[in-house]
Amino acid sequence: MTKKIFRSILLAAVSVLLASLVIIMGCLYDYYKNVQEKQLRDELRLASYGVEADGLDYLEQLTSPYRFPSTADFRLTWIAADGEVLFDTHVPAAEMENHSDRVEVREALAEGESEGVRYSQTLTERTLYCAQRLSDGTVLRISISQLTVFALAMGMLQPILLTAIIAVILSALLAHRMAKSIVAPLNRLDLDRPLENDAYEELSPLLGRIHQQHRQIEAQLRELRRKTEEFEQITENMGEGLVLLDGKGAVLSINPAARKIFHAGNSCVGQDFLVADRDHEVNRAIQTALKGGHSEIRAIRNDREYQFDISQITVDGTVVGAVLLAFDVTEQVAAERSRREFTANVSHELKTPLQSIMGSAELLENGLVQQEDIPQFVGVIRTEAARLVTLVEDIIHLSQLDEGIAPAKEQVNLLELAERAASALRERAEERQIDLSVTGEDSMINGVRGFLYEMLYNLIDNAIKYNKDGGQVEVAVSAGDTSTTVSVKDTGIGIPPEYQTRVFERFFRVDKSRSKASGGTGLGLSIVKHIAQYHHADLMLHSSLGEGTEILISFPNE
Ligand code: ADP
Repeated sequence: MTKKIFRSILLAAVSVLLASLVIIMGCLYDYYKNVQEKQLRDELRLASYGVEADGLDYLEQLTSPYRFPSTADFRLTWIAADGEVLFDTHVPAAEMENHSDRVEVREALAEGESEGVRYSQTLTERTLYCAQRLSDGTVLRISISQLTVFALAMGMLQPILLTAIIAVILSALLAHRMAKSIVAPLNRLDLDRPLENDAYEELSPLLGRIHQQHRQIEAQLRELRRKTEEFEQITENMGEGLVLLDGKGAVLSINPAARKIFHAGNSCVGQDFLVADRDHEVNRAIQTALKGGHSEIRAIRNDREYQFDISQITVDGTVVGAVLLAFDVTEQVAAERSRREFTANVSHELKTPLQSIMGSAELLENGLVQQEDIPQFVGVIRTEAARLVTLVEDIIHLSQLDEGIAPAKEQVNLLELAERAASALRERAEERQIDLSVTGEDSMINGVRGFLYEMLYNLIDNAIKYNKDGGQVEVAVSAGDTSTTVSVKDTGIGIPPEYQTRVFERFFRVDKSRSKASGGTGLGLSIVKHIAQYHHADLMLHSSLGEGTEILISFPNE
């Protein structure tokens, strides 16, 4: 900008200088011409008086030794009325041609006097002349040759050039200083606080506009910051992993959950996703989504199974990137697997008693059973049918618990419920000389009576089933400050340590034949676990092989 201002000022100065020179030259020339013309007329008048008085003598004494008064450049010519040259200060009269056809002569003869200008062929010189008719009818002409403006200028070229160079240098220095002084306040402008500037009044609208734009930008920035913070808040608290990728698969943003899944730091931002995760399968899925719109893939990370859903992001039909969402599907996969296993197990568990019933019924139908054996076969059919009923009941209970179908909760006395379940099983205990006791204090908890009864029944039933003849079963209810606990303890066969967690799985039995022989379905403890979970109760199992088992369930006091 400084350069531009400098150039403009310099150009203006040089133009003004040149124009001034031309005008001055023109004026000077004009003045000089007027002076010369006047001088010419005066000289002619003087000469006329001389010639009128002394004739040719006057003219001849002008030449030598006395020169023409002011300058030798004047040329005097005396011409007779017929055009014959009588005298000339420069050329002998005899050598000169007749002047009757000369304009100035003709005009002077006709009008008394005449004035004019004649240019030389090169146009660098011109001749001013003045003619006057004398009283005797002759014409006296005076002329002077004069340089034209161009020739004058050419003659003065050296001083003009010198002046011009000095003027240009001075102009350049001045222009430089002026440009700097014009630009200096502009350089000092504080664009962060445009309204506080006091540079040039002409800048006020511009500075006002800048101030307004600042405010707009600040408002937009605030809005952008708010949205970014909102986005970060959401993504940072998301349980799912979220990765934003650009059109080439480079990471734009990665939330903490995704960083944990991929063991990636913030340094992966701006780099290819391969830096965050080396798995080519996932990277291939990203490329597929970038090209085709959407892709899904499952992969194990940190011993957990994740589903990666990758979707293309487009703006006005152009692919600008992709978003990767990572869901932990470990539980879902496990639930799917256990559902599949459960279905297979249920089919198997139903088939065995049904086959037994079918076999006995066929033998009876075909009369292949001796009369005295019939009760035994009918007994088998009844036992197996009863097992089927128990199994179906257990399955119904489990599926109710799975579905979350929840009967209303009420205040239940756990001790009373334990006594009821124990008395229902007392006969079975007595059959094997097992001592069954219930101790404790009345303890009220908020729960589903039916579920809690079934839980206690299953636990006491197991404690009898897997006990030794003549053993003991102790049911104890105790109320603490924070929880109410029921414990079912037996002196039975115990559970091997490696199976102690597995006994709560559906259809898991340590000794299948013993379970079956005692009418077990393999679902009892699984139902117990579900009921405990339903009541937010803690479940604990202590067991020593050959010594006995204790199962404790602690209900939180509400
Ligand atoms: P079941 O119908 O077979 O009794 P459960 O789910 O109630 O099924 O129990 C699962 C398995 O856990 C049983 O088959 C048994 O092997 C073992 N078990 C359960 N309770 C006891 C206990 N009190 N003492 C020893 N083993 C037990």
